[in-house]
Amino acid sequence: MNCTKCSEILDEYLAGTLKPELSAQLIQHLNHCQRCYDLYHLLSHTQELIKEEKNYSVNPFLTERIMSQLEHQHSDYSENRLIQLVHKVARPALIAASMILAVFTGIAAGNLTVRLIKPNLPAELILINDNEIEATYNYLND
Ligand SMILES: [Zn+2]
Repeated sequence: MNCTKCSEILDEYLAGTLKPELSAQLIQHLNHCQRCYDLYHLLSHTQELIKEEKNYSVNPFLTERIMSQLEHQHSDYSENRLIQLVHKVARPALIAASMILAVFTGIAAGNLTVRLIKPNLPAELILINDNEIEATYNYLND
């Protein structure tokens, strides 16, 4: 028997469904071939582990403990979600309000400064930028 044939029939041997004459040949090969013996050992050990896994019984209260912890986490999650929602809405609104307040404060301060410097000008002329007018005038004369 060669290694290829051995690996093909190893599952049947481990399941106990292999014909006796082939089993004898297989055992003879396993006694002489270390590689196939290692494969046989690995497969038989794997089958034992699977059998043990099938016989393993679960603690009957495990499901209840897991479900109660999940419900507890779900209620914590709901509270956290409300706090997160407040943070998501309140923080941007506060930032936007403070930015708007800063812009209008700057405009008001600028208008106050201009009115203090040029008290006799009408309101429309106060908003004109003198630097731009002067620059345009110089450009047109050149
Ligand atoms: Zn072999």
